[in-house]
Amino acid sequence: MASFTDIVDGTRIAAGGLADFATGLINPSVRLGVTGLSRAGKTVFITALVNSLLKGGRFPAFEAMSGGRITRCYLEPQPDDTLPRFAFESHMKALSGESRHWPESTNRISQLRITAEYTPVGFISRSFGSGKLHIDIVDYPGEWLLDLPLMRMSYAEWSAATIAASRMAPRLALAGDWHALLSTLDPARPADEQDAITAAELFTAYLARCRKDDVSLSTLPPGRFLMPGDYKGSPLLAFAPLDVSPATELHKGSLGALMERRYQAYVSTIVKPFFYGHFARLDRQIVLVDALTALNAGASAVKDLQQALADILSCFRQGANSLLSNLFGRRIDRVLFAATKADLLHHTSHDRLENILKTIVEEAMTRAEYSGAEIDVAALAAIRATREASVKQKGETLECIVGTPLSGEQLGGTEFDGMTEAAIFPGDLPKEAERALDGAVEGSLKFVRFRPPVPKDGTWPHIRLDRTMEFLLGDRFL
Ligand code: GDP
Repeated sequence: MASFTDIVDGTRIAAGGLADFATGLINPSVRLGVTGLSRAGKTVFITALVNSLLKGGRFPAFEAMSGGRITRCYLEPQPDDTLPRFAFESHMKALSGESRHWPESTNRISQLRITAEYTPVGFISRSFGSGKLHIDIVDYPGEWLLDLPLMRMSYAEWSAATIAASRMAPRLALAGDWHALLSTLDPARPADEQDAITAAELFTAYLARCRKDDVSLSTLPPGRFLMPGDYKGSPLLAFAPLDVSPATELHKGSLGALMERRYQAYVSTIVKPFFYGHFARLDRQIVLVDALTALNAGASAVKDLQQALADILSCFRQGANSLLSNLFGRRIDRVLFAATKADLLHHTSHDRLENILKTIVEEAMTRAEYSGAEIDVAALAAIRATREASVKQKGETLECIVGTPLSGEQLGGTEFDGMTEAAIFPGDLPKEAERALDGAVEGSLKFVRFRPPVPKDGTWPHIRLDRTMEFLLGDRFL
């Protein structure tokens, strides 16, 4: 096993942690990480949340807000000058007006600082005057989080694990082109740049096929292959697994040695700086999960999601032999896993969705031997694009959702025009969570993408966004 800490990394985090600590004494701040795989709903979540905080949206279960103790929220320049700013204003613009549409999704890390002024609860706290809390929201692709386990794997270990997984269903059927090339690549032959580039391209295309909605797999590292951020086209991404085992000796100048060197460079120049510079400085984390797409894709997708959540939990694990245990300074102490887009189901299925996610997370916690931060789960919709209606059909009452499907969306032979409302019976989730995990939902849910709704009093209706806030930040306003 390769070791992932060295003196330099340790010193770097100690310095970062101390700086955070020192500024935190003067201006209390909380760093909230928002992550999830591509299209899980990160951009929509942050935009809707920040908008509601700024405009005082309806958040009954977020006590500090519903109780009137949060008196003012406003945006401020973020503390990290080197991070791109979360494009809140342009996302708001996209979601507004007659030509409103869903904003451009997350494809790299970004940050936004929102400051809240509030009245503390206790007599003593109140005597010190009003409180102020900086909330630094850090948005980053979940694909990058799933790279963290690579810090503990050698190139040969990663190759062996990745190839073994690709030889099993459902991945096997999607790996044809890449496997065909792989069988011709002898790790001992002289290194050739074109071989490395072609292998990386076919491997990346295979990963992308695994991610499509109907397959919906989650554990597909290296994350930058699907979500390159600023590394698009970089030689750092020109590598792929080869048929080698940890016992294989990779001689200097061989294709195997070139791939190994690039893998190590990927881990040391991309994965480690992300871990030490960003992930390890978070206080709270929400992991958004498109559980509905995984459930609809079937048991393999759900199993893979569970593995991804176990991998994620092992990043948050505290104590001996964990990534975070070596670090000085902050520590993530609350993690929320949230199933997004709950508005695509009737409310009678919302608790069921939450229970299914809870079962998936509990199993993942066992697998990851998890201990540490407090964990919770939720089913939410950051922007509720549908309302509900009961529709009578052939003497049966169907609990439907009503919204305006986007132009070009199709369902049961109908193509929608983007203007007309439709009542859709999306199907429902089983009462017993285990059945959903065994694939009982596969192909039974009917989804279309709806147009974003018109805001009311400047904010959008949502599902359980307030409960989410209460869990993630409620205690910071006491
Ligand atoms: P990201 O890749 O995690 O940033 O994902 P986005 O936030 O861009 O969301 C991806 C897509 O999911 C959006 O374009 C919407 O179509 C859909 N979506 C996200 N959140 C919601 C929601 O709360 N309700 C509904 N109906 N759709 C959503």
